[in-house]
Amino acid sequence: MSMECNIPIKGFIETSFIDWKGRLSSVVFTGGCNFRCPFCHNRDLVLNHEKMENIPLDYILLTLRKYKKWIDHVVITGGEPTIHGSLFKLTGTLKMEGFRIKLDTNGSSPATIKGLVNENLIDYIAMDVKGPISHYKRWCGIDVETAKIEESIQFILSGKIDYEFRMTVVPFFHRVEDVYEVAEYVKDAKRFYIQEFRPKNTLNPRFTEIKPFSPQKMEEIRKNVNQILEDRSQKTEGRRNPRSTMHDTR
Ligand code: SF4
Repeated sequence: MSMECNIPIKGFIETSFIDWKGRLSSVVFTGGCNFRCPFCHNRDLVLNHEKMENIPLDYILLTLRKYKKWIDHVVITGGEPTIHGSLFKLTGTLKMEGFRIKLDTNGSSPATIKGLVNENLIDYIAMDVKGPISHYKRWCGIDVETAKIEESIQFILSGKIDYEFRMTVVPFFHRVEDVYEVAEYVKDAKRFYIQEFRPKNTLNPRFTEIKPFSPQKMEEIRKNVNQILEDRSQKTEGRRNPRSTMHDTR
């Protein structure tokens, strides 16, 4: 039977160890994004997705069923999956098949995020925070409604489902203080991951010339981020039960 869902699926990874931390998962990539982050390394998925072939959902479902014994977690990523109304249909279909679902999002559609959570269509959410809210246009390349970004963050922080926040750190583009400002902003979060920038296939080609921070520098940034999260948790919960151990930064 053909499954009707017109979400443009442009990529599919059958098995991944890295897209859902601690889980073996399959990964579905939707085409198109409403942001234009200059450091984005999914250039084609954002700019040329219409020229890319669609992968039929039927094919994906058949493959997922085949591996279900080993893999029952699916990551939906992009591009930006929440720009497609048919995301509800896709997640509903996967849920009916018994999969647990992680959504990767840029947080620009709090209404979609709330809808998916309230209808139990996703189990985990990973939101990218691009930089301090005050300069969001600089980070994401468009005139974004920052109130929506903040609404998504606050909703996710409310903890209705498990979650993580992530930030990609780009030398020369971000100052290290920007990372600490974001850490302060999401300091109530269970998890805040600092990700390394990958200078490959970037949306703005000039960003391929930027060298990522050294592992030592990244380690220093992570330590300072942990300190910010830890300081806050000690202030609010007392030293008896520091939440720092929950801040699983990588
Ligand atoms: S990095 Fe930015 S432009 Fe690229 S897919 Fe994510 S939100 Fe879209």
